[in-house]
Amino acid sequence: MTTTIDPAAPAGPHAQAPTEDQLAAGRRAHELDRAHVFHSWQAQGPFDPMTVVAAEGSYVWDGEGRRYLDFSSQLVNTNIGHQHPAVVAAIQEQAAKLCTIAPQHVNDARSEAARLIAELTPADLDHVFFTNGGADANEHAIRMARLHTGRTKVLSAYRSYHGGTQLAVNVTGDPRRFPNDYSAEGVVHFMPAYQYRSYFGATTEAEETERALRHLEDLIVLEGPTNIAALILETVPGTAGIYGPPAGYLEGVRELTARYGIVYIADEVMAGFGRTGRWFAVDHWGVAPDLITFAKGVNSGYVPLGGVAISQAIFETFRDRAYPGGLTYSGHPLACAAAVATIGAMREEGMVDNADRLGAEVIGPALRELALRHPSVGDVRGMGCFWAVELVRNRETKEPLAAYGGSSPEMNAVIAALKADGVLPFANFNRIHIVPPLNTADADVRRGLEALDRALSVADGFVD
Ligand code: PLP
Repeated sequence: MTTTIDPAAPAGPHAQAPTEDQLAAGRRAHELDRAHVFHSWQAQGPFDPMTVVAAEGSYVWDGEGRRYLDFSSQLVNTNIGHQHPAVVAAIQEQAAKLCTIAPQHVNDARSEAARLIAELTPADLDHVFFTNGGADANEHAIRMARLHTGRTKVLSAYRSYHGGTQLAVNVTGDPRRFPNDYSAEGVVHFMPAYQYRSYFGATTEAEETERALRHLEDLIVLEGPTNIAALILETVPGTAGIYGPPAGYLEGVRELTARYGIVYIADEVMAGFGRTGRWFAVDHWGVAPDLITFAKGVNSGYVPLGGVAISQAIFETFRDRAYPGGLTYSGHPLACAAAVATIGAMREEGMVDNADRLGAEVIGPALRELALRHPSVGDVRGMGCFWAVELVRNRETKEPLAAYGGSSPEMNAVIAALKADGVLPFANFNRIHIVPPLNTADADVRRGLEALDRALSVADGFVD
């Protein structure tokens, strides 16, 4: 079952167009925002954020009352869309019952959320440490790996994102690390398997896998296997480009990490909870990591929540030894109640299968067809509701439409064309990501892809 919001229906919170009062409140909020809110990742002066006065299903309404199809799922977290009634009701019920309780106490919402997550994760990852989001999940996973192994180094891929807190941003392999790189904290980066711009000169998928794994093993040997606590890897890197691993790569990573006694942390903060058309992206390859970090889709971001799913072997390290870390809001009842309701709604409405079908039957074929017609498209790739379109000035040289780590007037023009057409995209550097909620109606996805077709004509104008 998919969300059935008629694109022609009156817009607004809970299906009505925003009222004059809402729009006035939005204008006041914008003024206060500019006066007092310090925003993430922005130069504060020139930043002119979009006001959102309402959101419902796969749509949001801006401060002018204009409606946008949310092709971004915000920061790729609203996997079930906005204001899902079952989740809103569960949060309200939990709030009426018990808003907060410290992590050392038992709470029914937390216990049930942990049970459901343990059921969905592969193999014996049967215990869950709850955090407030993805970055702290990765920080705690690394801490667990260091305590478990007694080693310090952490391997992570270039072209990755693991979060905005200090260790998580140091582990990050994309340019968001550059201004934050105060201390390496034992972090060593390796070249990822990324076939479109292969670092290994590979021309086939098999070559890419084989060479990327050889590079990784060389790096492990040269860094000293007995010094390496963990390898952290986004199963399908998200903001860094949605470049899924070539066949055999993850199996090879699993084998290498097991052979050298390195804890394999799969960062599924963005790729997890149905985004790729499986509950966890590792399920596509039948790989069981030692730790899986999650956030975002676990409760669609309705209340902040993240966590680490922990294998039995790592759990045993802490059976008789205290884990020296914690958070006041670990397993917050409102967040956990939202997770229980989100997972319930996803199961009842078949959203994970729907994401798989949308990727295979609607988004994938449409993007491949657009790639044939638009010379600005260098590559399209993805799965489920998780796709990237990489834009280039020249297909032969693969020169990107915005430099690595930057924006460009050309990319801004493409983004503006999409927004003018009523589509809110997720864009990063030279890429447009197609990442709608998993329950977006087919007709809406098609409408968004038609808008992308028109925006790509703008991009074609910049091709050499
Ligand atoms: N890991 C990945 C793969 C992410 O995409 C993100 C956020 O986008 C994070 C970690 C950080 O999560 P959070 O922003 O919840 O701290």
